[in-house]
Amino acid sequence: MSTSLKQALKSHFGFDGFRSKLQEDVVKAVVSGQRDVFVCMPTGAGKSLCYQLPAVLAEGITLVISPLIALIQDQVDHLKELNIAACSINSKLPVGERRLILADLGSKRPKLKLLYITPEMVASPSFQPCLTGLCSRGLLSYLAVDEAHCVSQWGHDFRPDYLKLGELRARIPGVPCLALTATAPKNVQEDIVQSLRLSCPMSFVTPVFRSNLHYDVIFRDLLPNPYAHLHAFIKKALDMDSGSAEQGCGIVYCRTRDGCETVAYQLSKLGVVAKAYHAGMKAADRTATQNEWMQGKVLVIVATISFGMGVDKANVRFVAHWNLAKSLAGFYQESGRAGRDGLPSLCRTYYSRKDKEQLNFLIRQEVTRRQEKRGSFKETDKAALTDLEAMVLFCEHEGCRHANISKFFGDKTPKCAGACDFCVNPKVVRAQLERAAALSTN
Ligand code: ADP
Ligand code: MG
Ligand code: ZN
Repeated sequence: MSTSLKQALKSHFGFDGFRSKLQEDVVKAVVSGQRDVFVCMPTGAGKSLCYQLPAVLAEGITLVISPLIALIQDQVDHLKELNIAACSINSKLPVGERRLILADLGSKRPKLKLLYITPEMVASPSFQPCLTGLCSRGLLSYLAVDEAHCVSQWGHDFRPDYLKLGELRARIPGVPCLALTATAPKNVQEDIVQSLRLSCPMSFVTPVFRSNLHYDVIFRDLLPNPYAHLHAFIKKALDMDSGSAEQGCGIVYCRTRDGCETVAYQLSKLGVVAKAYHAGMKAADRTATQNEWMQGKVLVIVATISFGMGVDKANVRFVAHWNLAKSLAGFYQESGRAGRDGLPSLCRTYYSRKDKEQLNFLIRQEVTRRQEKRGSFKETDKAALTDLEAMVLFCEHEGCRHANISKFFGDKTPKCAGACDFCVNPKVVRAQLERAAALSTN
């Protein structure tokens, strides 16, 4: 089977092989099974292919749910270029085109392989006869739900329309469902399984644990000179690959623009080439700074979280959080920009309880503002606070940092083997917590 899959991959998509073992395993599971499948792989890992290839090989039609018309359009265009029969029914579609599509779907042997729809279309009355017809004639091969985290009220991308997918699922019980997402902490995963009524799904999840990343937490309020401490850390991190040809670089994340400016200034004074990057700067200056960092002319970029989206640099030797991240999921993503080349890299958080209180206050304020605007309380308002709590726990917990992260994402406990401060020396972590406790009672 494997060779014929590879042939299909080549002939339909032009790829020489699978992106990863995981991608191959998912495709095999989807093609062979009647089981539901849950896929969690990072952005860019090639999740679309996990349903597109099975869809091409199947007899019938694959229904793909995706949240945005723009995303759908990109995919449909791409598939059409590959000569794969794909289209989308959405509210923007001209009546004539819609009629053509519906006619094909109502025909004895539809030509269409992939039908993309938005979740609101799933529930629209005009689409129901088509769906019922396909279903009763056994023409639905798979249901693929892309960006499946949108179904969860805990996720940051919650879309109420995604809740309608549960009903859709109930109407087509025999059709295997494939749920795909890039980020799903455990509670979000559980929501996905429940809302989409996945039955004992086979799970394919990229492991959270990355053994080349060393995590530690330093209580900033306990430091006599925090900037000197950060400086020493940076020196150590950048010297780590003195043997390799390429000079490494790093990122310091700060919460505020002022924070970025101050840290960049202090580091420069101590002799590190560091520059600030934040939304208060002119776009051109920001781009220039980013380029200098990409080219290795600036070794350290001191940035708010707006930096890093889509930045793919291999030799980032450290990521330091000067301020507490708002959520553990966000922190994992940000710190994960270190060590993409697989070489040892450091992920440090400078934790401060004052900082935590401040962040807590800001989040509550924001939640209240949203509630006043809306005039009601929502269960999901708590999500932002729960997110922060998980981050605080990561810093305050006496235990393996990697284990903490893996647990949060619902992964099994990894073999840290000294890749965090606690596993290197639990006594140091305990002592730090005790000193912090003494400080806050004083
Ligand atoms: P995701 O949805 O996981 O973020 P996509 O499905 O958008 O990722 O795929 C990301 C990119 O990877 C696309 O450009 C896609 O064409 C490419 N890709 C997917 N699978 C393979 C493969 N087996 N070989 C080469 N490129 C691939
Ligand atoms: Mg995708
Ligand atoms: Zn550990």
